[in-house]
Amino acid sequence: MAAILAGFPDAVLNLTYLVAGVMFIQGLRDMTHPRTATRGNTISSGGMLLAVLVTVLWFDILSPVILGAGLLVGGLVGAGLAVSVETTEMPQLVGLFNGFGGGASALVAGAELIDVLGSGGSLSIGLTASASIAGIIGAVTFWGSLVAAGKLHGLVGDGPFSTNVGHALKAVFLAAAVAAGAFLVVRPDVFGTAPLASWVPSYWALVGAASLLGIFLVISIGGADMPVVIALLNSYSGLAAATTGFVLNNTVLIIAGTLVGASGLILTVIMCESMNRSLTNVLFGGFGSDGDGGEDMEDIYEGQIQETSAEEVEMLLDTAQRVVVVPGYGMAVAQAQHAVAELVELLDENDVDVEFGIHPVAGRMPGHMNALLAEADVPYDKMRELEEVNPTFSQTDVVIVTGANDVVNPKANEDDSSPIAGMPVLEVADARQVIVNKRSLSPGFSGIPNPLFAKDNTSMLFGDAKASMQELVNNYKENH
Ligand code: NDP
Repeated sequence: MAAILAGFPDAVLNLTYLVAGVMFIQGLRDMTHPRTATRGNTISSGGMLLAVLVTVLWFDILSPVILGAGLLVGGLVGAGLAVSVETTEMPQLVGLFNGFGGGASALVAGAELIDVLGSGGSLSIGLTASASIAGIIGAVTFWGSLVAAGKLHGLVGDGPFSTNVGHALKAVFLAAAVAAGAFLVVRPDVFGTAPLASWVPSYWALVGAASLLGIFLVISIGGADMPVVIALLNSYSGLAAATTGFVLNNTVLIIAGTLVGASGLILTVIMCESMNRSLTNVLFGGFGSDGDGGEDMEDIYEGQIQETSAEEVEMLLDTAQRVVVVPGYGMAVAQAQHAVAELVELLDENDVDVEFGIHPVAGRMPGHMNALLAEADVPYDKMRELEEVNPTFSQTDVVIVTGANDVVNPKANEDDSSPIAGMPVLEVADARQVIVNKRSLSPGFSGIPNPLFAKDNTSMLFGDAKASMQELVNNYKENH
């Protein structure tokens, strides 16, 4: 089949790749702010579509009909998933996408080795070295992501591999993968000179060992740390793609992979910093496993908890001039964002100065709260970040904490031995009155009690976030 784009000078291909690269960068830039994030997503996916179309047609890889059918089927599956998956399940979906990216890199690197040998070429050191790296990172990413997504979805339990034996096994798998890669680079013909015999054993040994490494690495990490692991695996999938770009000598794949690798790493660092944890602690330690939960829970809460009702909270709001709403994971679970947004709109209409205080790791994925509130049409200028909102609590009449727990836990500032010590938190207790809306006194993600609930200026509004916020909205409407 004649190449559709045959006859165009190579500069056209490179220029198109440059345009696609600029679109990726502009898209990433736009994604740093909720207001422009949707546009950023469209621009970078447009860049990827352009890169795929041009590559496939330029090198005559597939017929336009097969390419169109592939895009249609892939597009339908992607759109179906995007519409049907709940926002609380997004981390595992992202995990699966990362895994497929890593798996594809490992397969494509292997396919390129077959292709080169099949067409009578020889394996250069550059090719075997980059294929080995892509194979190792790609296989670790594929299996690691499947395990991470399975854990988040409750399909895979925590494995018993965080012991010394587990660590030793991981070291053995890593050494085996590196040794197989070294074999491939130094002596690609060590198993014989027939085309397949020369590389197949080393490459598949490498992929097999790296697959076991990926499974063992992630299965030993606590389920609660999976969102950070997924951000890290996102970075790995980018590195695998970039290395495959070297295998194929494809500039746009190198650009895209490097951008994904770097942004995934930045996201991982932001998540670790927001929780005040090191990456080593995430990968080899455990969160909330220090046993700070059960025994002192009763000491902290006994006789100290004041309960309130939607009617009482409505009366408080009646006289408030400034109100801050702090949402957390429970708002996502209850899907209470629409009721919360309606309450804020009502307060706004009644000349109350009302804003949201958003913690960077509230919920279970970065930007979780911003995405939910944007879905409920909350204006972006009402969302304040932690550093902006903290100094304003002392001038705030009422803070409504709905479904949040760890992100408002004063222990982070007061107790050096706490698992969340040093984590920046929203200092809501500085406000005149704090209302905490959740179903019980149960701990949040970190598994530790929260002394905020027992403070003199805190009242608990027990109940599901959606039902409670809706009741508050109804009461407020009746009286205004
Ligand atoms: P938390 O997990 O600390 O607390 C959530 C609270 O929501 C629970 O205490 C629960 O209490 C309550 N809740 C659950 N369901 C409902 C419901 N239907 N209605 C009302 N309340 C409900 O959440 P935060 O957002 O405060 O903190 C996030 C935590 O997750 C942090 O520790 C952070 O480090 C961690 N994390 C965040 C990541 C991110 O990227 N955002 C990634 C990894 C971890 P009850 O059962 O009593 O109702």
